[in-house]
Amino acid sequence: MQNSKLSAVNFLALLALSFIFSLSVRYIWINQFKDVESFKWNNELMINTNDGYAYAEGARDMLQGFHQENDLSYADSSLSTTTAFLAKIVPISFETLLLWMPAIFGSFLVIPLMLIARSLNQDYMGFVAALLGSIAWSYYNRTMIGYYDTDMLVIVLPTFLLWSLIFNVAEQKNRYLPLIPLFLMLNSWWYGQSYSLNMAMIGIVFIYAMVFERKNLFFHKMLIFMLLAIAGIFLWLKIILMAALFLAFHFKKELFNSKIIFYILVGVSLLVLATGGFTPILAQIKGYVFREAYASDIYETMKLNYFAVNQTVREAGQIPFETFANRISGHTVTFLLSVIGYVLLSLRYRVMWLALPMVGLGFLALKGGLRFTVYAVPPMALGASYLLFFMASKFETFVFNDTTLRNVKIAFISLGTVAILYPNVKHAQEYKVPTVFNQEEVKVLDALGKKAGREDYVVSWWDYGYPIRYYADVKTLLDGGKHIGKVNFPVSFVLLNDQISAANMARLDVEYTEKSYKDLFDSNLIQEMKDYNFTDVEDLLVSMQSTNFALPQKTRDVFLYLPNRMMSILPTVDLFSNLDLKTGAQKARPLFYTTNNFKDAGDKILLGGGIELFKSGGKLKIGAQTIPLHEFVVTQYNQQGKLEIKRQVMNAESQYSVIFMKNYNQFLVLDKRLENSTYIKLFVLEEYDSSLYEPVILTPLAKVYKLKK
Ligand code: MG
Repeated sequence: MQNSKLSAVNFLALLALSFIFSLSVRYIWINQFKDVESFKWNNELMINTNDGYAYAEGARDMLQGFHQENDLSYADSSLSTTTAFLAKIVPISFETLLLWMPAIFGSFLVIPLMLIARSLNQDYMGFVAALLGSIAWSYYNRTMIGYYDTDMLVIVLPTFLLWSLIFNVAEQKNRYLPLIPLFLMLNSWWYGQSYSLNMAMIGIVFIYAMVFERKNLFFHKMLIFMLLAIAGIFLWLKIILMAALFLAFHFKKELFNSKIIFYILVGVSLLVLATGGFTPILAQIKGYVFREAYASDIYETMKLNYFAVNQTVREAGQIPFETFANRISGHTVTFLLSVIGYVLLSLRYRVMWLALPMVGLGFLALKGGLRFTVYAVPPMALGASYLLFFMASKFETFVFNDTTLRNVKIAFISLGTVAILYPNVKHAQEYKVPTVFNQEEVKVLDALGKKAGREDYVVSWWDYGYPIRYYADVKTLLDGGKHIGKVNFPVSFVLLNDQISAANMARLDVEYTEKSYKDLFDSNLIQEMKDYNFTDVEDLLVSMQSTNFALPQKTRDVFLYLPNRMMSILPTVDLFSNLDLKTGAQKARPLFYTTNNFKDAGDKILLGGGIELFKSGGKLKIGAQTIPLHEFVVTQYNQQGKLEIKRQVMNAESQYSVIFMKNYNQFLVLDKRLENSTYIKLFVLEEYDSSLYEPVILTPLAKVYKLKK
């Protein structure tokens, strides 16, 4: 394969072209939704990733210059800091900034891809790799417009690091050495979990040096800078040390023989060891060995058995090979060709073996879950592109006319490029991800923010935590990063228990959560048992059914946020509190069925799922069983927009009821416990106990109540 190194101008032109291509594919999403009013807020499309709201809240807090103690804000995180900085200097709205940042930053991947190829003198190959890599399936998914998350640089920065290594190996000049620690440190700062990848990159440079460049001092220098970059010392000290070493290497070359450089390398390694640079690895080993076990009273040894969140998500087991291949390259064939191409590329340019940690991490997806595939995208894109050029070069063996050869090659590579891009562009067209919230819900949160103080709590399921905090600037008990069984239990309990228990628990959990930040206790529930003198957790929970339950001093307002979209996950929410905390055993599963898809069949309504509702006689058929109905309830908004409830009691003894939410065109089939739950009573029926709750905002899609006590 011939070399191709373009002039700087032509190189930049190709780079710009690939960047524009990457943005254009991402624009498809905007084009699909730009007229959907319900996806907009402040005249701009909203973001489509839940976690993004955490960083958005952090950025907003940094811009306003303050935030509340223990509000779980992501202020000062890398993405929030970058966003706040850009918000100050870029003349676009904050919403537009959030929407476009992932697309722009994500598209920066074309830069290191093309730079890597340029280090190999293969500019055209870099261009094709940039086209593919920037829009490859999983990479697209995680850097699409509106996917406002750290993902936007999670691949870009390691690819820049890879380039800095390849470039240094190619040039072997001291002056380029600082690029390596720069990207290594940027990568660590941007994404804390990049630690393992950074270590693996150090490891691969070490192995590469041992195998290919044993005598080459330049590799020792590279390792010295990489190790310094991860040393656990102050940033300023790191920079001074690096600058001193750099200047010494550069201007006092003669002082550094192999022995001295080796000693420096050993010294830096010891520094990393001593300052905890390797601690995460050691901690992992230790974690399996030591377990804490000592206590002074019964509450300290008490263990409650909560429901584990990972029990609700599909086990992160093996994924089908086709899915894996699609995510990395867009198509199984492209993927297989990419692997072959990557091996050929690395055989031709052995420096490409340095990409192995990214390949390896990406291939871990086969065992560890889809989210890793994205790491293999850059090296596989380079592999696919290389194979195209490699195959095109084979025409040289039987096409001898220069012009014909040139044309055949161009045609082959163009067609090949279109073929590998096509499945990925098609995926982008079909991947119609909705925004996290819709406008009506955001209006509710915006209004809530104006009524609630920043120290007030809004109790809701964790899925809504970050967006609630972003739009309403309040505190929450749960969010996308705080949702283990222990913290989910009280919120699940509030949503699915009777109104009195719910009000008591909501107040208790809010006050104890705040207290836990000061008194540093681990479990609200156990601390409550201690303070209320219960030794059996069931007794504490039962005592909450009383209006006389002695609540702690009220320090702030507490709101319940109840959205319609929670309806479908109610049985999952229930799993977290409908259990015996002493044994962890689930109690009887509720009957809860909802549908918008039903058929009128004359004397009965077919609700789907084997459930039929008889129009007369007050009976319900579930599978083969016919059971009497407790009641049939219809909810409907009247002319004034007020919810009206019509109920027909059929059989007082029965445990099962049907609710028809007329304006939602939705049937609910549910048992008595769920019918009496706070969520159903307050959201579906608006039958709230006015001594406990005060309605604050009532809209069809979301309702907010305030605790009176
Ligand atoms: Mg706040």
